[in-house]
Parts: sequence; C-alpha cells; structure tokens
Amino acid sequence: MPDTAIIGAGVTGVLTAYNLARLGHDVSLFDRHDSAAMETSFANGGQISASNAEVWNTWHSVWTAASRLLSEDAPLRIGLRPDLHKLRWFCAFAREGLRHRANTIELAKMALHSRQCLRDVAAREGIDFDRRDSGLLHIYGTRAQFDAALRANTLLTGAGLERYPVTPAEIAKIEPALDGNYHAGLFTPGDFSGDIHKFTRGLLNVCTRLGVKIRFGRDVRGVSSDGRRATVTMGDGTADTYDNIVICAGVGSHRLARALGDDVNVYPVKGYSLTIEIDPATHEPDAPVTALLDEDAKIVTSRLGNRLRIAGLAEFRGADTAIDPARIAILHRWVARHFPRMGRGEITEWAGLRPMTPRMVPKVGRGRMANVYYNTGHGHLGWTLSAGTAETIAGMIAAGD
Ligand SMILES: Cc1cc2nc3c(=O)[nH]c(=O)nc-3n(C[C@H](O)[C@H](O)[C@H](O)COP(=O)(O)OP(=O)(O)OC[C@H]3O[C@@H](n4cnc5c(N)ncnc54)[C@H](O)[C@@H]3O)c2cc1C
Repeated sequence: MPDTAIIGAGVTGVLTAYNLARLGHDVSLFDRHDSAAMETSFANGGQISASNAEVWNTWHSVWTAASRLLSEDAPLRIGLRPDLHKLRWFCAFAREGLRHRANTIELAKMALHSRQCLRDVAAREGIDFDRRDSGLLHIYGTRAQFDAALRANTLLTGAGLERYPVTPAEIAKIEPALDGNYHAGLFTPGDFSGDIHKFTRGLLNVCTRLGVKIRFGRDVRGVSSDGRRATVTMGDGTADTYDNIVICAGVGSHRLARALGDDVNVYPVKGYSLTIEIDPATHEPDAPVTALLDEDAKIVTSRLGNRLRIAGLAEFRGADTAIDPARIAILHRWVARHFPRMGRGEITEWAGLRPMTPRMVPKVGRGRMANVYYNTGHGHLGWTLSAGTAETIAGMIAAGD
C-alpha cells in the first residue's frame, strides 16, 4: 500500500488521516504542536451549518461591512499595514463576486454532503463531542437583513437545504433564553452543533488504533516532490520521503504550497470566541440550547454541554492571534445583552485564524505534481465541510486521480 504524509492535524488533517487509514493506506500525520486541534480547530463557533454556506462576495455584504467599519461593534476590521498577499487576496475576492451564485450553490452542496459524513463518522466511532441536534436559528433585526437573507435562501434551498422562515413569536419558542426584538428568523432543523476540539481529539484516538503514525512536535520547514516521491523536511534538517503528500495546514498551507510550486491562496482571517461555563444555579430556560447566528452582529452561539460558546468577528491583519481587548469586548457585551439571566462561571477567551480562499470554497484536489494533494482553505466553515472534503480527497488519492 502507498504511504502518505499529511501536514496538519487540525480537524481537516485528522479526518483525512482517518479516511485514508480506513482505506488501508500507511499514513503519517505531522503537526508542529504536541497534540491535535491546537490552532483554528481549538475553540471555534461549534456549528455544523450548511445554512451558513452563502459566500461573502456580494455587494450587499461588502457594503454592509464597509458602512460599519468605523463603529465600535463592527464585525469586520481590515489592517492598514501594506501587505501584498492581502492585496492580491482582495483582488481575487472581488473577481469572485461575479461567481457568487455558483460558489454559494457549490458550497451549500459540499456542506450538506459533509454534514451527513460527519454524522456517519460520529455514529461509527461513537465519539462524544457535546453534540446537540437543536437545529440552527438565524435571527434578523431588520426587514432589509431578512429580505437579503431570503434572496440567498433560494440558492441554499435550491441546493437541497431544508430551511424555513419563523416569526418573532416562533423565535421565542425555539429559544426562550434569547432576549431582544427581531424582525424574523430562518430555522434549519438539520444543522447541529458540537465541540470541534473534542471531536478531533476523539478521532485522533481512532486514527492511532487504525495505525496512523503520529508525528507531532515537528515543525515542517520544507516540502518538495519530483512527482513520484514527496519529501518532508523538519526544522532540524531531517527528512523523510513518501509516495504522496496532503497539505491540510490551515493558514500555513499558502507557504507550503508555494514550496511545492502551487498557488493556494489562503489568507488568515482572525476571529474570536468566548467559552462560558454556565453557572449550575441558572434556570435551564435562561441558558440557550439552540445554535444561533445573529446576522446583524455576525455572532454565533452553540451550547456545548454545560458551556456556551460565542464566536464571531473577522479581521484581515495577517497571521496574528493576539486577543485585542476592545474587540473581544464586543462578544462579552453581546452575550450580556442577549442572555441577561444566564449565570456565568469561568470564561475563556480565544482567537483563531480562518484559512480563507478568495472564492470561499476550499481547495480539494491535486497540485502541479501527481503525488501532491490539498485539503485546505475551509475558511469560516471548516467544521461543517471537512468530513466531506476528507472523504473526497482520500477517495482521489486511493484512485490515483
Ligand atoms: C472564530 C471562529 C469561529 C468559527 N466557527 C465555525 C463554525 O461555527 N462552523 C464551522 O464550520 N467553522 C467555523 N470556523 C472555521 C473552522 O474552525 C476552520 O475552518 C477549521 O478549524 C480549519 O481547520 P484546519 O484543519 O484546516 O486548520 P487548523 O485547525 O488550523 O489545523 C492546521 C494545522 O496545521 C498545522 N501546521 C501548519 N503549518 C505547519 C507546519 N509547517 N508544520 C507542522 N504543522 C503545521 C497547525 O499546527 C495546525 O494544527 C470558525 C473559525 C473561527 C476562527
């Protein structure tokens, strides 16, 4: 059987290793950290959300984001420091605006397929990841927001998503803990939530049982291929060769792809999260259980066992994971306003980098060389998309496509 090196043990790399190992391949999984899911797959929004598959390249999204750039609670921030990669990324993002419809439909179909793949893996392997099949409720504060969402919804439902409008009274019934006035909502019964970190760690144990060789604590400095053998070189100069290599390196994929002669335009888009231990004295109806997305604030919440995850914001400022107190305060204010009766215990703050392509559709396929593959660039939807893309890439490698 051929041997394959996978670079990156986030959710994407671990799922790729799992699928290849199940096909009987000899797999080595590399990561610079000592365990899996320590970067973007650490504390994300927790949502498996086919309903969030609309790509962002629309005039409406760009105009809405741009018009709020100077406000205190602006979801979007763009660093002003000159950066050639960022400029090139934004030019490609603008061009992709012409393909908004096709890209949204493609992403929605990928998300629907992946949602089912994730359910299958979880059921087959019995992984506990605080999953909650509550459906996902999008909430809209104004008629204009809701009308724009309905336009996008025709693309999503056309791709096969079950999703329907709900009134303010129905919103209150679906999520009684939520405080605030809303124009309307859209509810997706098939979306769900769960802890990405717990899942990835659980699946890593399965990988180990399937014989995947764990190569953690190794910072991959160089990768190359002559089309038949691929070489992986560590920081200390040691190197190993493999029949195939798969790049699943999140925001590190751009640099590794360049070394392999490929242009995989992945830019780091920073987001923030809070994880709040819910005070056990809280009345259960005062702590949310349904996965939510507030369209105005661009903030999501997921109930993970006795914790509430709140996540959002987007910053184009390079590969910097520092927590800006003024920015994360937006999440603190939002949760206090919307769940005023929920008792809060310990709160953990986090920032991570979405590996975003300008098309907002991941790169899943072969590179310039026949034995180089990519499964990366999952952007704002990596938890939703990676079970499906991992199955696809493993199938391609097995078939030699
Ligand atoms: C705030 C926030 C909220 C989000 N919410 C959601 C959500 O609700 N639903 C959803 O579907 N998605 C969400 N996402 C997106 C999702 O979390 C990501 O798309 C996903 O985690 C990316 O996984 P990955 O495996 O590609 O990257 P990562 O998890 O970053 O894994 C890449 C791995 O590669 C390793 N690596 C990189 N370079 C090297 C190297 N040279 N040598 C060795 N190792 C290397 C890194 O150490 C890392 O472990 C969110 C993201 C953020 C930031």
